Amino acid sequence: MRRALQAGALVAAVVAGVIAAPAWGGAPLSVVATTTDLRSLVEVVGGDRVAVDALVSPGQDPHAVDIKPGQLVALKRAVLLVRVGLDHEPWLARALRTARGPDSLPVDLDCSRGIALLQAETSRVRPERGVHVHGFGNPHYWLDPENARPITAGILEALARLSPADRGYFERRRSGFLVRLDTGLARWRAALAPHRGARLVVVHESWPYFARRFGLEIVAAVEPTPGVPPSPASLTSLTRQMKEAKVRVIIAEPYSDAALVQRIAALGGAREVQLAASVGALPEARDYLALFDVDVARLAEALRSP
Ligand SMILES: [Zn+2]
Repeated sequence: MRRALQAGALVAAVVAGVIAAPAWGGAPLSVVATTTDLRSLVEVVGGDRVAVDALVSPGQDPHAVDIKPGQLVALKRAVLLVRVGLDHEPWLARALRTARGPDSLPVDLDCSRGIALLQAETSRVRPERGVHVHGFGNPHYWLDPENARPITAGILEALARLSPADRGYFERRRSGFLVRLDTGLARWRAALAPHRGARLVVVHESWPYFARRFGLEIVAAVEPTPGVPPSPASLTSLTRQMKEAKVRVIIAEPYSDAALVQRIAALGGAREVQLAASVGALPEARDYLALFDVDVARLAEALRSP
């Protein structure tokens, strides 16, 4: 995890050739993003004007997070917080209270504003308290690469508010990213085009935005309610449904219950594929665009196999 360097450390790092000297000569803006995906997108826009921490490590369930002391320090000194919003970070309000007391952040960016949400008809009142149940609509919207446009637009405005003199720099960086995003979208669409209409089962409901973008159909989720493990009865009906719908692939995340997923795949006659739902969840998914390169390649391979 990278941290905003103190002035002395920054000079030392530049002298040592560890990092490039910031072109404008100032200290980077301290930013905290809740997830590695948002960190990647802040870095895309902010370049060397930002130092970004992510609170959730990519290999863990993003909804059950223990904040470490170093992260509280990052939250305390941050001038910008970038969050997924909705009920994706049920632990965040408490972490903010612990880190900052009554002090509010200079800028607090909820990236879910401006996103057309899926599954927003979900009941907002649920019996499961304090858990992530997608109670305000599905929060995994960063997995539609088109949504990187509104997300980076929000990040650009937030950074420009904190550092108005750098607006042009942020705009140029974002424009360059959008060109690479468009190239990526063409590549990912082409790779998945032969599999349009393919039926999938997912473990957690992380994938509806991704599936819609690439014309795939999710017929069921292993978790009957997001974040809640399946009962034996729901597993029986799930594997029956998989056979009826001729589901060939089940999407798991690296932190999914591997034994359970393998059992369901075997019973339902499908193949498991692990995809990265966040940057860094698989080693090759090192930034936001690489995340889709990895996921699209893995999924296309799984769907292509006999
Ligand atoms: Zn979720």
